[in-house]
Amino acid sequence: MNHHIPFIQFRDYIPGLQQQIEEAVLRVVQSKHFILGQEVQRFENEFATFLSREVNVVGTGNGFDALVIALKAVGVGASDEVIIPSNSYMATVNAVLHIGARPVFAEPDVYTYNLTAGAAEAMVTSQTKAILPVHLYGQTCDMAPIKQLAAKHHLKVIEDAAQAHGAQYRGMQAGTLGDAAAFSFYPTKNLGALGDGGAVVSGLPAVADFARKYRNYGQQQKYVGEIVGVNSRLDEMQAAVLRAKLEHLDECNTERQRLASVYLQELRHIGDLILPYTAPGCGHVYHIFNIRTKHRDALQQWLAEHGIETDIHYPVPVHLQPAYRFLQYTKGDFPVAEELAQTSLSIPLYPGLTAQEQERVIAAISKFYRKL
Ligand SMILES: *Cc1c(COP(=O)(O)O)cnc(C)c1O
Repeated sequence: MNHHIPFIQFRDYIPGLQQQIEEAVLRVVQSKHFILGQEVQRFENEFATFLSREVNVVGTGNGFDALVIALKAVGVGASDEVIIPSNSYMATVNAVLHIGARPVFAEPDVYTYNLTAGAAEAMVTSQTKAILPVHLYGQTCDMAPIKQLAAKHHLKVIEDAAQAHGAQYRGMQAGTLGDAAAFSFYPTKNLGALGDGGAVVSGLPAVADFARKYRNYGQQQKYVGEIVGVNSRLDEMQAAVLRAKLEHLDECNTERQRLASVYLQELRHIGDLILPYTAPGCGHVYHIFNIRTKHRDALQQWLAEHGIETDIHYPVPVHLQPAYRFLQYTKGDFPVAEELAQTSLSIPLYPGLTAQEQERVIAAISKFYRKL
């Protein structure tokens, strides 16, 4: 009777989209052209137009590579320091480490969970080369003060926009706000492929040129190796799928925002719940709907018993991950990030989630607090 509500599920929210995706895949199969062809080129142009500023889009194999390439393209290298929020996903940290640079963690804002200029400024040293704000959960960071700080110290700004496709900041799109940006098209992202994919975005022609060569072994022209590059290409099949889905991105984000407004309304004033806060000027596309409570583990268990799947983004802040022990951070270094890791719970929110399902989630949470 009470069917399972998955944390995330691909649903036919846009009538006909599933068929358009299948047709896109078939079109590529029949074209017999699978790497760096028309579909990738068209997607890059269409996504640039969507981002609606003079930017170049360069498709990559995944979001991690897009971060690595964006960092390299703006000139971050070995022994440079890059400031990143201590509550991001490990991909952000690993990208910085991958190029031999040093990730320097900064405390996120306790209300928006995003990196702020104030927290970043405290971490600036003579070695700092770049700031890497992450538009976490789909809310854009307050970029104006971050860009001012960067200008003051001659730092580069690279946006991690992997969770923020279509999110706006003061009327501008996430991904157009810094020197370069990285997107991921991992299937569950707001714009997701049927496999891995990513993109580097930049308004600086030199950054885009570098990315275009670097992703394809350093070639602009076939068999002319201008730089030592790698293989990280978005493939034709994924590009064709992304083109179909891009047409509906705004509509899907609007539905995410509508579902979020229902949660925000119905979960207000319940127990000790802290709901997402959206700062003025900062758009939110709710890649993740995160709630916070001291009773997180008990609530998660309760919801599981009621057939409602949840997730935690993220259970361990990066400065306490075993892999980064050599960076010599310890417990207590970032109390806000540590508290977020202990109190955060992500509840189901995706286009196609039904009103009945959302009511069940709300009812189960309310009942948990009535019994508490
Ligand atoms: C998903 C994600 C990435 C990495 O993207 P992949 O395509 O999985 O490599 C990077 N940063 C953040 C914040 C992400 O959510």
